[in-house]
Amino acid sequence: MAECLFCAIVAGDIPATTVLETDRILAFRDIDPQAPTHVLVIPKDHYPDVAALAAADTSLLGEVITGAYRVAAVEGVGETGYRVVFNTGADAGQAVPHVHGHVLGGRSLTWPPG
Ligand code: AMP
Ligand code: ZN
Repeated sequence: MAECLFCAIVAGDIPATTVLETDRILAFRDIDPQAPTHVLVIPKDHYPDVAALAAADTSLLGEVITGAYRVAAVEGVGETGYRVVFNTGADAGQAVPHVHGHVLGGRSLTWPPG
């Protein structure tokens, strides 16, 4: 099994609830949702964070971002509003070192987040 948790999800070794999938990205529900819509969008290839992905492949970064906005639409929060967050590094509390965009919506989202 892949050492990386999200690579293991891509490989199908760990189950996840898929919301959207293309040949290069996967979107699945967060296991500990912080809002009625809480979906993670990842590239299937492993990059540790959004900075590494941006440095390596802006086309794939664009697919991840586009995936986030498509998720918002299929989840029905495209009109009510939502937030896309890429936690990056220790101070942001990034827990899983495989780049992922959180798509959060379905409730009023305060700013700044806690
Ligand atoms: P971050 O703190 O930005 O690295 O976010 C990691 C996210 O991954 C958290 O919101 C977790 O709830 C979520 N997470 C951890 N394990 C799983 C899993 N097996 N399936 C889905 N989401 C997960
Ligand atoms: Zn990975």
